[in-house]
Amino acid sequence: MLNILIFGPPGSGKGTQSLNIIKKYNLIHFSTGNIFREEIKKQSKVGILAKKYIDKGCLVPDKIVVDIISKNINSKNETKGFVFDGFPRTLRQAEFFDDFMNKRNTPVSLVISIEVEEQELYNRILHRAKDSDRSDDNLKIIKNRIKVYKKQTEPLIKYFKAQDKYWPINGMADIDTVFNRITNVIDNYIENK
Ligand code: ADP
Repeated sequence: MLNILIFGPPGSGKGTQSLNIIKKYNLIHFSTGNIFREEIKKQSKVGILAKKYIDKGCLVPDKIVVDIISKNINSKNETKGFVFDGFPRTLRQAEFFDDFMNKRNTPVSLVISIEVEEQELYNRILHRAKDSDRSDDNLKIIKNRIKVYKKQTEPLIKYFKAQDKYWPINGMADIDTVFNRITNVIDNYIENK
C-alpha cells in the first residue's frame, strides 16, 4: 500500500495537491476537514460538535478525530492506498495513527510537507474565501488557525523526522510546479522500495 501523509499549515495547498496525487496514483483522499464539513452539512451529532471548534479556528478534540478516522478507514479496505490530508494535527493523533496503521499492517509510507511563507498563507486563504463558502476563511479566524498550527501541529515535524519519512517541499510556486516536486518524491520512493 502507498500511504501518503500530506502535511503543512492552513492554506499551503494540501487539499489541491491531495486531489492531484490521488488522480495520478489512483489512491483514496482522506481529509478530516472534508469529513467534518460533510457532517456539519448533515447536522449530525459529530458535525454539530465539531462546528463549535472549527468556527473559532480551534482544533476539534482528539477523541472525536480519532473515532472518525478509525470508523472511516476501516470501511475502505479495497484500495491501493490513501492520501491523508489534515491529520494528524497533534502529537496524540500522530501516536494513535501510527499505532492504528501499524496494527493493520499498512504503515504510513511518506510524509510530504508543503512549506509556504506565512504572508502567502494569508493571501491564499483570503483569495479562496471569495468563493469557498467556508465559515473559517476570514481574517480573524485564519490568524487563530495559523497560531494553533504553530503551537500544536508544527512540533510534529520533529516526530516525523525521527521516523525518516519526512520530505519537505518548497510550496512557494504555482500548483503544477509544486505538484512536480511532490511526484519526484513519490516516484523516487516507489522506485527504491
Ligand atoms: P486547513 O488545513 O486549511 O485549516 P482543513 O479542512 O484541513 O483546513 O481543516 C479545517 C478545520 O477542521 C480545522 O481548522 C480544525 O478545526 C478542523 N480539523 C480538521 N482536521 C482536524 C484534526 N485532525 N484535528 C483537529 N481538528 C481538525
